[in-house]
Parts: sequence; structure tokens; C-alpha cells
Amino acid sequence: MSLVYVTRKIPDVGITMIKDAGHDVEVSEKDGVLTKEELRGAVATKQYDAVLCLLTDTINAEVFDAVPSAKIFANYAVGYNNINIDDAKARGVTITNTPGVLTDTVAEYAFSLMLAVAKRIPEADRFTRAGKYKGWAPELLLGSDLKGKTLGILGAGRIGYEVALKAYHGLGMKVIYYDIKPNDILDKEIPCEFKASVEEVLKEADVVSVHVPLLDSTKHLINAERFSMMKKGAYLINTSRGPVIDEEALVEALKDGTIRGAGLDVFEDEPALAPGLAELENVTITPHIASGSEETRGKMSEIAAQNIIDFLAGKTPPNVVR
Ligand code: NAD
Repeated sequence: MSLVYVTRKIPDVGITMIKDAGHDVEVSEKDGVLTKEELRGAVATKQYDAVLCLLTDTINAEVFDAVPSAKIFANYAVGYNNINIDDAKARGVTITNTPGVLTDTVAEYAFSLMLAVAKRIPEADRFTRAGKYKGWAPELLLGSDLKGKTLGILGAGRIGYEVALKAYHGLGMKVIYYDIKPNDILDKEIPCEFKASVEEVLKEADVVSVHVPLLDSTKHLINAERFSMMKKGAYLINTSRGPVIDEEALVEALKDGTIRGAGLDVFEDEPALAPGLAELENVTITPHIASGSEETRGKMSEIAAQNIIDFLAGKTPPNVVR
């Protein structure tokens, strides 16, 4: 029997699976993110064999060294920018994530944000609730149509691929994309165009949807200079990770009309927002819930648990980050 530590309460299904596999599970009792010190202190209290952690936990050498008995850290997310992979490798710690199960959910969410900003739905809701609706008017809260417009995907992996399909089939949008490599499956699935650079996508797209992982190479992938390359009427959607966008530059671009609007589920310094962002009408902001459907959060719990169960049984877990 092994001992597993879970850094925050997640849907029960995964916890039950680990227990049913014969292991003991301890879940942090704090209803919130553990601070770095709390996390180090918590894992150091016992000889845990595995840790199930969240994207809000910073996992690095200090944490690994606090619990040298734990040779697997199973992240409850597909992104793993919260984990120092080099530190893990140096200590022979296996890292796993939860890819695939949240692809459709996040793609639906990115698609929803795109419609929400183009049709100004949250803004119109605020307007109506505030009692400002005084009767139908020909030019009230005019939005943009998307049919025939160009969607530019940055990062055509699992989620980017699904967003591209939804936009093409669902809205009749033209799709262009940039990735470090062409996506052959996407290329066969729908008529779309692989662009050789981020800039080429930004110059041509009416909506830019970001789906790259957060890496050194993608931090501030969209900065002031790149905002200035975008079309004046363009929208930016980000459901990847906040630091991929220079948020201060985004606030300026939204204020001065460099771009028309944005839909953001992630922020540079979560949960804080860049000064001025929340005051802008032409941005829709949501609290990092793109994967937050009941179905998907349950499946993520199952996958994270299965990664741990397989590892503790001496097998290679299904989702090892390499
Ligand atoms: P994925 O690995 O399938 O796709 C990422 C794509 O980005 C790959 O095709 C990769 O080649 C490409 N890429 C990497 N570096 C690049 C660069 N410098 N320029 C252009 N393209 C680059 O990942 P996925 O499952 O599609 O998830 C994408 C990201 O979405 C995750 O890393 C995660 O950060 C984020 N995410 C956010 C939420 C949320 O709740 N908001 C939920 C799930 C995932």
C-alpha cells in the first residue's frame, strides 16, 4: 500500500479510484491554493509515494527535495508550466498530465468566447441589467459577423485543431494557422492554410485564438509590436496561459482601438488582472474555467488518478510528460 498526497480537493472519482487500488490518500484541507511554504511543509510531513498537484502549485526542486520518497507528481491539467521538468528529471521524478479529455471542453469555451466578444454578449447583458435598454435601435451595440471571416490559430495542437474545425464547419470561417510544425491531420480535414510565422497570421486574421503551451519561447508571443500588426477590427481570444500575452500591452491595444476586442480566460499574474483591464467594455474576462465542465473535471480526476495507480503498480503511466 502506498501513500498519496493531493494538494487540493478535486472531484471525488479519482480519489476513490486511488483508494480502490489499495492506497491511502490524504487531501489538503485548505480550501485554496497552498503557499510555497505550506506546500513544502505539507509534503514533508510524511513519506508520500505520489503527489497529485494542480496547475496553481509551483513544483520545483524545493518541493521535490521536501518529499524525496515521491517519484511521481501527477498534474491535474494538460499544461505543466507550473512544474520544473528539468528539476524533476534530475531527480528521476516522473511527471504526468491530463491531455485529451479537456480538448473539446476548452475548444467549446474558446469558440464561446469568440462569439461572446464578436456579438458583444457580456457587454449587452451588463447594459440591459443596468436598465439602459430603452427600446430597439438600429445601431445599438453593433457587433461583428464571423461567417467568411478569417480565424488565425496560434498553436494547432489538440485544442487549436478542434477550434479550427468548429469555426470552419460551424461558422463558415476561413482558417489559417501558425505552429512550429504543420498539422497534417488538420490540413487534410479542412481547407486551411499553414503560415510560416506568427506575424503572417496576425496580419491576416479577423480573430486570433491562442493555443500554445507556456514556454520560454511563447512568453509574450503577442506583445505591443505584434498587436500593432493585427487588423484594427480584430479580436484576440486566449484560453492557453496568461503570460503568452503581454497583458499591459493588451490593455493599451484595447483602449486605443489597435484591436477591437478580446476574450480572456487566463491572465499574466493570476488571479490579479493588469491595471485597467477590468474597466474595459471590449474585453470579456473569465476566471480560468475553460476546462471547467462537470464531465471534464471528473475525467481529469480519473486520468490523474490512473497515472498514479499505474506508476505505483510499476507500469508506465499513460500520460508521462517527456
Ligand atoms: P498541445 O500540446 O496538443 O498543442 C500545443 C501546440 O502548440 C502544439 O501543436 C505545439 O507544436 C504548438 N507550439 C508549441 N510551441 C509553439 C510556438 N512557439 N509557436 C507556435 N506553436 C507552438 O496542447 P493542447 O492540449 O492543445 O493545450 C494547449 C494549451 O492550452 C496547454 O498547454 C494549456 O496551457 C492550455 N490549456 C488551458 C486550459 C484552460 O482552462 N484555460 C485548459 C486546457 C489547456
